[in-house]
Amino acid sequence: MRAKIAVVGLGQGGACAAIRLLKAGHSVTVFEKQPRDSTGYDWEDDIRADVFSLCDLPMPADDAYEQKRKWLFVSPDWQHSLPVPPLPPMEEISVHRRRLCEYFAEQIEAAGGTLKFQTPVSGLLIEDEKVIGIKTDAGEERFDLVIDASGMRSPFRGQLPKKFCVQAQPEENGVLYGYRAFFKSAEGAETFEKGIECTMSLKHMGKAGISWCNLVDDRVDVLIGRLGGLDDDEIAEAIEDLRTHNAVLSRELKFGQRVQICLRGTIPVGVADGYAAVGDSAFQTMPLMGSGIESSMKAGKILADVIGDGNDFSAAALWQYWARWTREFGADFAFIDVLKRWALNVDPKQIDWVFGGLIEKSDLALISTDTSGAKPKIPAKSVFKKLWLLLGRPSLTFPAIGCVARALKAKRIAAHIPQKYDEKKIAKWAKKYSRRLGAGSPE
Ligand SMILES: Cc1cc2nc3c(=O)[nH]c(=O)nc-3n(C[C@H](O)[C@H](O)[C@H](O)COP(=O)(O)OP(=O)(O)OC[C@H]3O[C@@H](n4cnc5c(N)ncnc54)[C@H](O)[C@@H]3O)c2cc1C
Repeated sequence: MRAKIAVVGLGQGGACAAIRLLKAGHSVTVFEKQPRDSTGYDWEDDIRADVFSLCDLPMPADDAYEQKRKWLFVSPDWQHSLPVPPLPPMEEISVHRRRLCEYFAEQIEAAGGTLKFQTPVSGLLIEDEKVIGIKTDAGEERFDLVIDASGMRSPFRGQLPKKFCVQAQPEENGVLYGYRAFFKSAEGAETFEKGIECTMSLKHMGKAGISWCNLVDDRVDVLIGRLGGLDDDEIAEAIEDLRTHNAVLSRELKFGQRVQICLRGTIPVGVADGYAAVGDSAFQTMPLMGSGIESSMKAGKILADVIGDGNDFSAAALWQYWARWTREFGADFAFIDVLKRWALNVDPKQIDWVFGGLIEKSDLALISTDTSGAKPKIPAKSVFKKLWLLLGRPSLTFPAIGCVARALKAKRIAAHIPQKYDEKKIAKWAKKYSRRLGAGSPE
């Protein structure tokens, strides 16, 4: 039977679910608080191009994306750098965020969905511990299912009955506080390394976080990101420091805004009776870089596939979505999250040392997603050299081994998510999972 579904927020995850659910025959309304022409950011971010075909979607129009630029990782002391190995053309793309939102809006309309822009959802309608609709300025409206795609700061998770164990807010060290700005590029000046447009400084100025300085046509894209908080003085200092290393960064600011990036593993539980979270509202980002466009889209697809043309929206039925997500992606993200929490607290001098000899340019080919040729291998001589170097650095090596063991344990716990919906078992598992992530209480 055709169900009535609300999607809160025109993010990628909600949009992807909406399109599939419309094609399965449901009635879908998307509520977006922003006006149509200013939904999404006025800049580009990087994704793999194949995510569209993976989600059975056509590619966006040519003017919505371009080839991803070349990246360089730089050590905290700026003395060592490693270029990210290139992939075949157009395997990874820079997609314009606002045009991507418009693309999704058009796809939803073409599939017969309703879009309500400038319509913020103010709350969930809950009856007998079940979500039965939403509240907007226009009043209350009943729905069979509410998909929360409203982003990391979703106010809706906190309105759900406690028995579902849906975490209300991310803990402070799960959020990267950022400032993203665009400056005019200084004429005739070079980037940090000639021929490489994008420079990512790891633990910039010794802080837990990153900064980047990227030449994008005639403007320079700057991001300052810090875990736990970022004040105006820190932003000014960090930009000044970037300027000393990147001649291309002028003082002519075009625009800048504060941003928050979700930088932690997925919340333990993201479903309730009549409710499912998708994308950043479920913290479904890759925890190392905070990238969530592709993972939101994949989550939206899994959610819609699990629902199909059915109309059981109980937490028990939606749990199939959640358990599948956690097994397929959440477990790997849990592994990365534990490593990231450790790496961000490592003494920056240790990272300088790693960049200064332990990792060589040829090693980076190992992390390439290029599948066109034979997989590169590290020669035995190089493995012995690395082991030797590591043995001479026990202050880094032993904590790193401990961290990998903890990360593997977190992955194992995540992968053993209860198969069937059982409130008591889920509450117990959620506590264990959150403790292992170091992410506080799930409630
Ligand atoms: C500076 C920066 C750089 C990034 N770089 C990358 C990158 O390179 N690659 C990558 O994959 N990811 C990147 N990300 C992360 C990426 O933006 C998110 O992970 C992704 O957008 C999450 O998608 P989503 O589907 O959860 O929706 P979101 O993009 O979070 O969208 C949520 C939508 O909900 C709307 N909304 C919120 N509240 C309400 C309400 N009450 N009522 C109605 N509507 C509401 C919002 O207006 C918004 O349109 C970056 C993020 C930032 C901030």
